[in-house]
This record gives sequence, C-alpha cells and structure tokens, in this order.
Amino acid sequence: MTEALAAGAGGGQRPRLDGTKAADVCVIGGGLTGLWAAYRFLRLNPGADVVVLEARHVGYGASGRNDGWLCTTMSANQERLARFAGREAVVDFQRLMIASPRRILEIAAAEGIEADGMVSGHLTVARTPAALGRLREERDHLVDWGYDPARLSLLDADQTSERIAVAGAEGALFEPDTAKVNPAALVLGLARVVERLGASIHEGSRAVAVRPGEVKVAGGGRVTAPHVLVCAEADSGRIGGVPARRIVPVNSSIIMTAPLGPDLWRAIGWDGHECFSDAANVFTYAQRTPDGRIAIGGRGKPYRFGSRTSGLGAVDGATVRALAGRLREYFPGLPARLVEHAWCGSIGVTRDWCGFVHYGRTTGLGWAGGYAGHGVTSAFVAAHTLVDRLSGLDTPYAAAPWFGYRPPNWEPEPLRWLGIRGMYKLFAFADAREEAARQEHTSRLARFGAKLAGLS
Ligand SMILES: Cc1cc2nc3c(=O)[nH]c(=O)nc-3n(C[C@H](O)[C@H](O)[C@H](O)COP(=O)(O)OP(=O)(O)OC[C@H]3O[C@@H](n4cnc5c(N)ncnc54)[C@H](O)[C@@H]3O)c2cc1C
Repeated sequence: MTEALAAGAGGGQRPRLDGTKAADVCVIGGGLTGLWAAYRFLRLNPGADVVVLEARHVGYGASGRNDGWLCTTMSANQERLARFAGREAVVDFQRLMIASPRRILEIAAAEGIEADGMVSGHLTVARTPAALGRLREERDHLVDWGYDPARLSLLDADQTSERIAVAGAEGALFEPDTAKVNPAALVLGLARVVERLGASIHEGSRAVAVRPGEVKVAGGGRVTAPHVLVCAEADSGRIGGVPARRIVPVNSSIIMTAPLGPDLWRAIGWDGHECFSDAANVFTYAQRTPDGRIAIGGRGKPYRFGSRTSGLGAVDGATVRALAGRLREYFPGLPARLVEHAWCGSIGVTRDWCGFVHYGRTTGLGWAGGYAGHGVTSAFVAAHTLVDRLSGLDTPYAAAPWFGYRPPNWEPEPLRWLGIRGMYKLFAFADAREEAARQEHTSRLARFGAKLAGLS
C-alpha cells in the first residue's frame, strides 16, 4: 500500500512551495488531521485561502498506511481526562466518538470519496480465561464512560465462532459502531475534495521553522498566515511549537495475505467484515479487505532509539514472520507462505496515551496529535476541535476535553528506549504466562507493564 502511494496513486504530483505565499490558514501535514482541518475551515469559510504543506506526499504518514478502522475508542485515558475536564465532558466526548465513524462515512459519500466504507462493528476475541476476564472488565468500563450497554454484547465461544472462526476463541466482546474504510482512498480522496474547495496543497514542502504568523519551508519557501496548525502526529515533536518529548513515534506493522479462495472464507466465516482484535496484552488487529485478503497488524519492533520514524515503511523479516505466525494461530487452515505485502508506519504516542489539541488565541498556533494508534476517527474529531476553537464556535467538537490537555513529557534517552521496549516485552511475557497457566486474571506482569507505560 505504501509502495502504491509512493508510485503515484495521487502522491508526489503536487508542486513544491516556492517563494512567499499569504494565506488565512497554513496547515502542516497532508494526513487526515491536516486535511480534515482544511476541510472544516473551508466548509465554515467558503473561498478562504488555505495552504497545506506536506513534507513528502499526501498520505505518506500513518494516514496512508493504516488498517482503516474507524474506531469509536477515544484516544485517551478516561480517568485522567476526567481529572482535567470533569466526568460529564468525557462521557459527552465518548458519545461524540461513537457517532463519528458514521459521520465520516456520510461526509465521504456526500463528497464523492470512494473509500469502500462500511459500518462493520468490532469483535475483540479472547483466547484465554484471563483475556475473557479483561473483556468483562472492559465492557463495564466502557458502559461507565458512555457506551450504551444494549449495544455491547459479550459472546460465548460458539457465538464468537459464528462470526469469525478464530481457533481457541473462548468468547468475545462485540461493539457494533466501529466502521472501516480503505485508508489510502480516504486520505487521497479527502485531498482532492479540499483542493476542489480551494485549498492549495504543496508536496515536497517540509516546514522547518514555525512561529506565530509564519512558516518557513526547506528550500526557501515561506507562508504567512494568522493561523498555523501543526498536524504532523508522530513527527510533531520535530516541529516548532510542540515540545520534543511530548509525543514519540511508535512503530506499527501490517502484513497482508493474497486473496483467499471461497473455501477458506467459508471455513473462516467473517461474513460481517467486523474489525477483529485479540484481547491479549500484546495488541494485534486485523480486517477482511473488500478484495478478500486479510490484513493483520501489530507493533513489530515497537520503538527506534532517538524517536526515529518508520521511513519508507520496510518491515524486518522477524516481524513479518511473527505476524504470519499469529495469523496461522488464529486460522490454522491457512496455507503457509500466504503473505503478499508488508509495511509499517509510525503512530504518535504521548507518555500517558492521551491525545491532545491546542490552539493559542494570541499566537494563532495550533496542534493536534497523540492518538496512539486510534487516529482515523480521532484525526477527524481533533481537526474539528482545532478549527471550531480557532473559529470561536460552541460545538460538541470545541467542547471535547482533550483541548488544552498537556500530557507529561517522555523520559530522555536511553530511558525512553528501555522503557518502551521493556513494556512490550513484559506484555509478551504476560501473554505466554496467562496462556500456559490458564489463569483467570490478568497477570501481575501485565498490570505492572500497563502502569509503567502510563496506560493505567
Ligand atoms: C500500520 C498502522 C496501522 C494503523 N491502523 C489504524 C487503524 O486501523 N485505525 C486507527 O484509528 N488508526 C490506525 N493507525 C493510526 C492512524 O493511522 C493515525 O493515528 C492517523 O492517520 C494520524 O493522522 P495524522 O494526519 O495526524 O498524521 P499522519 O498521517 O502521520 O500525517 C502527518 C503528515 O505530516 C507530514 N509531515 C511531517 N513533518 C512535516 C513537516 N515538517 N512539514 C510538512 N509536513 C510534515 C508527514 O509526511 C505526514 O504525511 C494506524 C497507524 C499505522 C502506522
């Protein structure tokens, strides 16, 4: 998918910014956050001058490389956010997140973006008693924070297998409001829509200096604008305005199979196309693509020393083998050597896994990010929070409690590298323990790992 974008599925064709340009808004980043921000601003201010600066090409970042889930999950720890903004604001925010996948599909349809969108729901499958216990706790937690209990179903092993025949499934949690899209089609289509509305997108235009009212671009270009919005997610810490240790890039990898034949699909089921994830401590997620493949993702090598990002997206052999092995654990009937594509990208993660949005009324500088791998819906909501705050609007987006939230800084290196790698190792170890011991409760190692990570 990354190769397809780089080869020119709309990527790399737009002019670089040369000379000086004046605009009403300058957006940095041609991913979903930047493009939704441009979209929202132009819908509120038809005919406005919006310039989008993209260092590489539209969709080069995670927005063009993800698994296409439009999650209802909020990119935040509810308890922490409630301490900052109050419980009611967090519950309202959660309900906004639940409604947003459908809103995104509606806008895509109305704007003529063909992104294979569908509301498919999300099935989280437990394959150990401990994971089943976590699902029960998770359901209570979600209900506590705004999910409708009537729409969250705990399924037993048979009901789970009727949806997706995952080997060893002991039960699952089904949530019906998650949707999915073809991610590259969404981001490329959105770019075309904002251009149609009048925005100029400049590719190959890396912002190298940001200050109130002005952005300097590598090669000598310059944009002046009263509002400058930094929408670079995993790269945010490298751009002026966002403290370098506020957000770090964590790697996420995906492999994709060749199209499966009808017999295999009959055996696996998955007719409802639900987004599928494993309730193990190590996060693994998958989807059935419209052309009959399975795309399955996980963290792979989770973090590169010094917060280096995933570059062009080449995946190491060990990660491909690990994900392929996981896939065959879920579906033992799959033939070996089925993997056709692999790629990776960087997600932006804050120290407490809470996303944030800022806008300074006096500086005109704004930024949004830290979605921790749940950014396809979050980018839409964050862009709306950013633009609605900038515009002084009183909307549910403007009221979202991540506005003004300041996550703590990450530790300096090498503590950061040691901590993140250590956390993933602990989770993997905890999964092995839970499976071997068939224990009913989440292992103490995993609880310690979650504390270390700032997840709990
Ligand atoms: C493998 C993978 C799978 C994922 N799966 C899912 C999923 O299924 N569901 C989900 O909700 N989330 C998923 N995510 C996360 C989600 O894709 C991101 O959170 C989201 O796309 C972030 O969008 P963004 O626009 O903020 O950032 P990005 O898409 O990263 O866009 C930022 C852009 O800014 C550009 N940029 C950086 N620096 C500069 C600069 N100095 N000047 C100009 N431009 C700059 C970059 O080139 C990039 O194009 C996944 C991520 C990965 C990597």
